[in-house]
Amino acid sequence: MSEEFKDHQIRDVIKINYKYTMGGQSKFFIELKNNKKLLGTKCKKCGKTWMPPRINCSDCYEPADWLELKQTGTIEVSTIVWYTTSAFIKAIPYGIGFIKLDGAETALLQGIFSENLVPSKIKKGKRVKAVFNKQRDGKMTDFFFVPEDEYDNWISKPEYEGGV
Ligand SMILES: [Zn+2]
Repeated sequence: MSEEFKDHQIRDVIKINYKYTMGGQSKFFIELKNNKKLLGTKCKKCGKTWMPPRINCSDCYEPADWLELKQTGTIEVSTIVWYTTSAFIKAIPYGIGFIKLDGAETALLQGIFSENLVPSKIKKGKRVKAVFNKQRDGKMTDFFFVPEDEYDNWISKPEYEGGV
């Protein structure tokens, strides 16, 4: 005689406190948090400027020096996000894109917010500028980009401020 198996389930919660390191790229996050600076790196050998910063050049594997980049740039490619994780769900829809900061030779993947989010606002070639959260934690979510013509509006909001 077989009896159908029925498991007994208990709903519970696991809470984990942990920390992680940004390693050799820590300087980028510390300067972002404390001074609203966007640091890239410049290869000591070939001179290529990396953003996001690379401690060693990915082309020639030589060490790179830190340097401060401008907070303006150009959109290389972008899209509008409609599906995301719980961390960003309140922000949808929002743009993301690869942005090449002025002075950098590589592009950074970052959020692009707009008060009037339509594809033409964040298309390739559009100029953007970085806006910073007043409350910063040293994370990539401490800043985002906005179309240059919206910059003054964004930094006048109580939770945001302009860079350096
Ligand atoms: Zn190099």
